[in-house]
Amino acid sequence: MEYIGDVFYEYGGGLYANLTNRCPDRCEFCIRYMVGALGDADSLWLKREPTMDEIKELLSEWDLKRFYELVFCGYGEPTERLDELLETAKYAKSICPSIKVRINTNGLSDLINGRDTTGDLKGIIDAVSVSLNAKGPEEYLALCHPRFGIESFDAMIDFTRRVKEVVPDVTMSIVGGTIPRGDEEPCRKIAEGLGVKFRIR
Ligand code: SF4
Repeated sequence: MEYIGDVFYEYGGGLYANLTNRCPDRCEFCIRYMVGALGDADSLWLKREPTMDEIKELLSEWDLKRFYELVFCGYGEPTERLDELLETAKYAKSICPSIKVRINTNGLSDLINGRDTTGDLKGIIDAVSVSLNAKGPEEYLALCHPRFGIESFDAMIDFTRRVKEVVPDVTMSIVGGTIPRGDEEPCRKIAEGLGVKFRIR
């Protein structure tokens, strides 16, 4: 198949899946507005989204046994292609049962897909990292400019609360240096209140 951009790439010892460039947010710190690629990728901007057949073909070119985990995280929000994400995860585990699967997400999957999507992840996804990014709805709106507007923050919190019930390893993260230092502690408390891990990345 022709080169459409890097659908899979190696980064920090993990294999990363970049299935889409769609995202409902426009975060001011988003790396995709600064560099064209990460890790061993040449371009994470896709000329078009790969089909499921193409995803499987591209994935089979990698030796999955080399990697501890497959991470859905590219130049877009992975849950914009939730069906393909889950099918890819199942396919990867069918080839390499020991591989862990993580989703790095903005937590807006339910708004994107118009329903509670957390149950879909059960038994397939091992870890979810949710970008908390801010201490409240107003701050989130100002930093991430979500197309769903002010309700986005609460939707992300709700998603995290529910996903914790079905996925064993859930983390919330903020980007150090992008929010006022005084906001880090309230963010940590939000994560603690939800009973999930907290990370400053
Ligand atoms: S949610 Fe992620 S991909 Fe989307 S704009 Fe923010 S940092 Fe970029």
